[in-house]
Amino acid sequence: MSSSLRQPPAPPAFRGHEALRSSLRRALSRGTLPATVLIHGMPGCGKQSLAQWIARTRLCTEEEKPCDSCVSCRQALRLEHPDIHWYFPLPRPKRAHGPGKLAEALESARHDRLGEMRRQPLRPEGDTEVKGIYFAAVMTLRERAHRRPAVSEEQFFIVGDAEYLVPQEASPEAANALLKLLEEPPDASRFILTSGKPGSLLDTIRSRALPIHLPPLPVPDVAAFLREECHAEPEAADRAAALSQGSIGAALGHLDPEGAHSGNRDRSLALLRAATGGKRADAYRTALDYRPGGARGLLDLLEALQLWIRDLGAAAAGRDERIVNSGERRFLRETARRLALTPDRIARGVARVEEARMLALGNVNPQLFVATLLLDLEETLAPPGRP
Ligand SMILES: [Zn+2]
Repeated sequence: MSSSLRQPPAPPAFRGHEALRSSLRRALSRGTLPATVLIHGMPGCGKQSLAQWIARTRLCTEEEKPCDSCVSCRQALRLEHPDIHWYFPLPRPKRAHGPGKLAEALESARHDRLGEMRRQPLRPEGDTEVKGIYFAAVMTLRERAHRRPAVSEEQFFIVGDAEYLVPQEASPEAANALLKLLEEPPDASRFILTSGKPGSLLDTIRSRALPIHLPPLPVPDVAAFLREECHAEPEAADRAAALSQGSIGAALGHLDPEGAHSGNRDRSLALLRAATGGKRADAYRTALDYRPGGARGLLDLLEALQLWIRDLGAAAAGRDERIVNSGERRFLRETARRLALTPDRIARGVARVEEARMLALGNVNPQLFVATLLLDLEETLAPPGRP
């Protein structure tokens, strides 16, 4: 059967975080949750899914909330609830001049993206374009927030990755326009912001919102999710979960051969080989070949590189069972032996990449950046006294 004939996959239920959810449930049923909350936590840890869960719980019409089966819950799960409005960063539409046209184009891009998420709720998003939450989109949101809810007592506005209200391409006015709305929220409107970088939000927005921290999931829970919701083979699920550091979003990327994170394992291995091969020319060539998939792509790549260095450490210590990229045990063992790696140099190597990750958040030239990192790593990992 061709995939287009299949039913769209059922979106997965929100998992884990039982204690957090039961206190949220209590606050929602007593009506004590503030009108604006800010869910923060690492990328891909489920912040926007939790935001959806909060809206669904509040709007559910049954006793046990969310029941996931009443009309309201089903609409919410299909991302079709008329009173749950989900905004997120989008690429700037081309050929949309003037505020009216831009607002229209952004609304249509948002609906397209929602359609994609309905069809493939578990597919990680490609992250190769500059995106923003633009002033025009916030104006659309604001206008809607001042209207009455369509069918419910309340309506929810979810603003995912709210730090994109501020950056380069998006107008800083977007953040200010949202702030005005949060300062005097219309009676029936509630706002859930999510952010992986709450520090980049306007202080004035942060101070309006109740912060809710969503921690990473335990690795076994991530593996269980991949097996049960994505029907992953147990071994693939374990490997992706180990690489995920507790983020289901990251795990999906490691699982999906065509996903946004695909190739990070191989590309970061190429970086490691260049940094440990003792041939500077290789390091430069690898760097020149490097085509980044946006700043986020670079961050994910460096994270994968850190795992390889930790694997080298495990190999050096003879702790094969700790090697995550177990398919490359032989290469790791040989490299660890050749460089006579010590825990101290491994730790410094991991720290070097961590520093590079911090730098990657800024505006860097990717090729130059990768070349510098590789030469740095070569020096850090090489045995002392080597020229
Ligand atoms: Zn329900």
